[in-house]
Amino acid sequence: MALRVIPVDPFDLVIFGATGDLARRKILPGLYRRFLAGQMTPESRIIGAARAELTDAAFAQSVQDAIEEFVPAAQRDAASVAAFLALLAYVPIDAKGEGGWAALKGRVRSGVVRAFYFSVAPALFGDLAERLHLHGIADGQSRIVVEKPFGRDLATARALNTALARHFAEEQIYRIDHYLGKETVQNLMAVRFANILFEPLWKAEYIDHVQITVAETVDVEGRGAYYDKSGAMRDMVQNHMMQLLCLIAMEPPYHFDPDAVRDEKLKVIRALDPVKPEDIVRGQYLGANGSGSYVEHSEDPASRTESYVALKCHISNWRWKGTPFYLRTGKKLRARSSEIAITFKEPPHSIFDDDRGWRENVLVIRLQPNEGMNLMVMIKEPGPGGMRLMQVPLDMSFADAVGAEAVDIPDAYERLIMDVIRGNQTLFMRGDEVEAAWAWADPIIQGWEGRGDKPQAYDAGSSGPDDAMMLMHRDGRRWRDIR
Ligand code: NAP
Repeated sequence: MALRVIPVDPFDLVIFGATGDLARRKILPGLYRRFLAGQMTPESRIIGAARAELTDAAFAQSVQDAIEEFVPAAQRDAASVAAFLALLAYVPIDAKGEGGWAALKGRVRSGVVRAFYFSVAPALFGDLAERLHLHGIADGQSRIVVEKPFGRDLATARALNTALARHFAEEQIYRIDHYLGKETVQNLMAVRFANILFEPLWKAEYIDHVQITVAETVDVEGRGAYYDKSGAMRDMVQNHMMQLLCLIAMEPPYHFDPDAVRDEKLKVIRALDPVKPEDIVRGQYLGANGSGSYVEHSEDPASRTESYVALKCHISNWRWKGTPFYLRTGKKLRARSSEIAITFKEPPHSIFDDDRGWRENVLVIRLQPNEGMNLMVMIKEPGPGGMRLMQVPLDMSFADAVGAEAVDIPDAYERLIMDVIRGNQTLFMRGDEVEAAWAWADPIIQGWEGRGDKPQAYDAGSSGPDDAMMLMHRDGRRWRDIR
């Protein structure tokens, strides 16, 4: 089955930081794929901007190199690549200087959607917003896209929101959380709100607990200096995992509309209880098989930054009172695996004499690898010999349902950029959401900093620190295997 592709309106997209890692790996190859799919039309333009003095041709060459490196060969048709490269231009600009802005103004057109992607360090977001405004390059219809991290605490997030709000209305600001662009994350909303099946059970009465795992095998990948100031809590939990938790826990919005969805997510964040110190485990990986330990990747040999965090949180509202949400994320773990697992409670009474094979119903939403959903249900073990129970997966994966292996599903960045052009903010974080998430995270971070807690060491290639296992064991539960 072919995916239906609806072309977006012609646009001018200016990418600040167009020579950087994110633009090369994700944004530009993603735009090429949307062009190939017919979603980005040839009337659109992409204008790269950074300090490097490049000509249009040199920039186009660097984009061609990026496409060759990051787009699979089967999708690199020479004519399409050439047609895509013809849509590119480049303007040298320093976000903090005055040169180049007049040239940029000359390059953007009126009468098309204008979007500005800030793929630069957050310290430059305010400068870019101000200069776009001062030089009359952005108008009331323009959109800006900002990357993570959005602040490192509530105070810095507020300052960023204030800096952007000086020149752009909230409806013009698209704060990217690429987890929200994942197919299964959106599918989660479809499963919850387009079926009658799950919603009646979607509450503390029937759900025992929820586990959200984002496990990585990589180390800090040469980003030690950045990561040391961040850590797993800021890098993953406050943003990506918080968004996942919100989508699981939120009330049905009255409509699938940006503010209706974001209002409901905000209510969840505000209903989160403070997390108790005993419900938090931090870890830091040790080296193994020639790969270095965290402190070897850090610039600080005594770094106490966590490369792993697990915590238990509670949502104080009618729906979730009594159902814990366990979150864990870490680097250098056994496998790369991100999933949400919703474990249902036992049936109130068993009618079977032998129910030793009984397991809880679990709805597993896999974000990576192999995006998809599985509902673990009990059935009778086939064959003679009485009633024995076994658990089987009801596979609800998108790929199987529509034959998506053969089909070109846009990756998260592609989808989100097209949403920016369409003017749809549903999958972007609103300013008050980000601030509420920091207001929840700040006391947790300040707590361990104030206590001088050291993260617990864990072996590279393991499932994380022992204390994280205990966090669930003491509640009579266990983490799902990371595999
Ligand atoms: P990067 O590789 O360091 O690239 C930074 C880009 O900004 C370069 O194009 C650089 O080019 C440009 N730049 C630096 N200073 C500038 C200035 N004063 N004026 C104009 N342009 C300037 O960074 P990145 O990894 O691509 O990350 C970009 C943003 O995305 C950051 O906010 C980062 O946190 C976020 N992000 C990145 C990733 C990722 O996987 N890389 C993932 C999530 C979020 P010149 O030096 O030539 O100016």
